This record gives sequence, C-alpha cells and structure tokens, in this order.
Amino acid sequence: MTSTTSGTLAGKTAVVTGSTSGIGLGIATALAKAGANILLNGFGDAQRYIAHMESLGVRAAHHGADMSKPAEVEAMIAFAIEQFGAVDVLVNNAGIQYVETIEKFPAERWDAIIAINLSATFHAMRAALPTMRQRGWGRVINIASVHGLVASVGKSAYVAAKHGVVGLTKVAALETARSGVTVNAICPGWVLTPLVQEQIDALATRDSVSPEAAVVKLLGEKQPSAQFVTPQQIGDLAVFLCSDAASEMRGAEFKIDGGWIAQ
Ligand code: NAD
Repeated sequence: MTSTTSGTLAGKTAVVTGSTSGIGLGIATALAKAGANILLNGFGDAQRYIAHMESLGVRAAHHGADMSKPAEVEAMIAFAIEQFGAVDVLVNNAGIQYVETIEKFPAERWDAIIAINLSATFHAMRAALPTMRQRGWGRVINIASVHGLVASVGKSAYVAAKHGVVGLTKVAALETARSGVTVNAICPGWVLTPLVQEQIDALATRDSVSPEAAVVKLLGEKQPSAQFVTPQQIGDLAVFLCSDAASEMRGAEFKIDGGWIAQ
C-alpha cells in the first residue's frame, strides 16, 4: 500500500459504477485522493458526491446509467471518454442483493442480480477495454465478494453472479495479459453499507433481537475478526492495484474479509 502516494493517478480518469453509496463511494474517494478524475454512477443525490470529489482537487461528473441496461452501460463509458478523454481505471462495483431460498426466489430478482452484478461488468469492460489498449495502460477492478469464492444459504443469484465475476475477471486478464491493462477482482467480506444494513435489519426482525445483537450475530457467523471491513480499506486496495507495484497482478482475486475465507 505504501508504493502509491497521493497524486499518483493525476491526469487519469476512473469510472466507478455504483459510487453514490457504500463501497463504490469509498473507492471513488480513494481514487480521487490519488488524483484521478472521477465519473460517478449510481442512484440518489449525485451533486453532493460530485462536490465531494471536486473538493479533493479533481474533476468529477455523474452518469445515471442503469447497470441492468447494456446500452446505458455503453453510453456511460462513451460519456466518460467524451468528458475526460479516456477511461484509464474502470471499477465495476454496482450491485444489489436479495436473500431467499431457491424455491421461493422471484425469477425477476434473479434476472436483476445477474444483470447488475455480473452482466454489467462484461458490458462495461467490452466498452472500455479498447480505449485502455489504445493508450497502453489500464486498470479494471471488479468488485466481487467472498461470495465469488464460497456460498451462503439464500444467496443463489448473488453467489452465482459473484462466482461469474471472478471467472470473467480471469478471462479478461488472460485476454489483456500482453498489454499494460490489468484486470483483477476484490472479494470483500462484510462491509457496513446500506446493502448489509438491510440484512442486519432482517436478522433483527427474524430473531427478535436488537440491531446491535444482530450485528454481533451476523459477524460472528462468518467473519472471524468480528469487525466490518471498511469502504476506505477497499478504496486503498483499489489504489494499490492501480500502482506500478501491481502491474503483474493479473486475474487475481484479493480477499479483504476479516479471515472469512481462511476458515
Ligand atoms: P450499496 O447498496 O451501499 O451501494 C450500491 C450502489 O450501486 C449504489 O450507488 C446504488 O445506487 C448502485 N446501484 C444499484 N443498482 C444499480 C443499477 N441498476 N444501476 C446503477 N447503479 C446501481 O452497496 P455496497 O455494499 O456498497 O455494495 C457495492 C458492491 O460491493 C456490490 O457489488 C456488492 O455486491 C459488493 N460487496 C458488498 C459487500 C458488503 O458487505 N457490503 C461485501 C462484498 C461485496
């Protein structure tokens, strides 16, 4: 982490999908602190996040592409190139969750999770890799999950999508192996974001316990450290993956999971 200091990404442009919340916002902030111009994406009030990025001394814009729509994903990459001249760093982060057993899993939730968590990663890479190749340098960072490596009950679509992201990352890394473009995946364990807060609330309701007790239970079941990973830590890892030290890291999945997968 020490090889990358503030400003190492000056003049570069990063597109971070799903960056109006949680992990994506943490990554966008870390990349902006390292000097990258930022194209934000995601739902909600984008203006305040644009202002936040600009306060870090970089240029920023927002594109509201819905990641479940391939044409909008492509339009987002074209917009970034038009606004900033390039896409040097692509972070495929947008994601949703739904927890239910397979028998009761609504088919439309399956389709939405596969579209947003997996297919959007393909469509964004397909659109962005040519400009990276042309410029001889690029970094693709796909936010998978521990659920790209192991399973949990009730998460069929999410686990399938995230395993898909890990596999897709390897293919893209092989296809770019002789270039200055690297493609890697980050596999976080529990991070306290709105996506996980919903699961904490559901657990609290199901077991009739307080939200605090639900947090202890949630972490205790899977994450040996009993601590949440933070968006900042994931952001710092993303910045490291953009450094020269990481230029031969290709097709790898980086666990940042409080020990989850070590068990
Ligand atoms: P979050 O709910 O805080 O943020 C999700 C972001 O994605 C938001 O900006 C939202 O607007 C955006 N988004 C959702 N649907 C979209 C769509 N159709 N089009 C465009 N943007 C859309 O979630 P998070 O926890 O920060 O998750 C971010 C990524 O990290 C996801 O891919 C998730 O699977 C992954 N992840 C999260 C955890 C965790 O514990 N929170 C762990 C491992 C992996």
